[in-house]
Amino acid sequence: MRKNIVAGNWKMNKTLQEGIHLAEELNNILKNKKVSCDIILAPPFTHLASIAQVVDPKLIKVAAQNCSDKEQGAYTGEVSAEMIKSTGASHVIIGHSERRQYYHETNEIIKNKITIALKTGLNPIFCFGELLAERESNRHFEVVKTQLHESLFALSPDDFSKIVLSYEPVWAIGTGKNASVEQAEEIHAFVRQELQKKYGQQVANDTTILYGGSCKPSNAKELFSSADVDGGLIGGASLVAADFMGIIESF
Ligand code: PEP
Repeated sequence: MRKNIVAGNWKMNKTLQEGIHLAEELNNILKNKKVSCDIILAPPFTHLASIAQVVDPKLIKVAAQNCSDKEQGAYTGEVSAEMIKSTGASHVIIGHSERRQYYHETNEIIKNKITIALKTGLNPIFCFGELLAERESNRHFEVVKTQLHESLFALSPDDFSKIVLSYEPVWAIGTGKNASVEQAEEIHAFVRQELQKKYGQQVANDTTILYGGSCKPSNAKELFSSADVDGGLIGGASLVAADFMGIIESF
């Protein structure tokens, strides 16, 4: 059975002290609440070890927002999957559109990152999705299919089962304009079909596919009610405990 997940991507926001405060606040709320999804926080690299120490791993898991495509060595400024793992983090976001767009990450680079993360024992949260121009020219299915095939489909079924997918239409990220339930469901169902063709029905059924892009307490319930939407990757609305809890409680 696939898991429902709500993950918060803090991006380049919050000082270490602010981040620890928010993680503790969420942990305290969750201690006294029964929720119906797994929760993951993805703070900046500098906060990972401290946040992994203040949260109860049964309530909150910790993810990095990126990792190097190299294992170790003379790569100034890079952070390896092994370093991330040593902080206590269990997950890593790979292929976020901001990495693709501003840091020129290709499907090939993303594939290498996925391979290294899996080898290290981290669970990748793989982000994919089309640009506005690609949707407007009706190429969104083709773009998504290529992203999946080029970055993931060389994986063994066992490795693939450790991956969480997150559909993030680029035009919906940070814009306030979320995909409609129909638009999200259509792509999620298409992705599940592609998984079925490549890995079989069981893997297709068991893979968690999140939606990301301007998800907030007011639209989460509707988006998560879709058959193939198993939760969200949340940017802006993960920075305030009440908003993030509002989304978590949509399940
Ligand atoms: C994201 O960056 O993954 C994201 C979904 O951002 P936002 O929720 O702010 O659109």
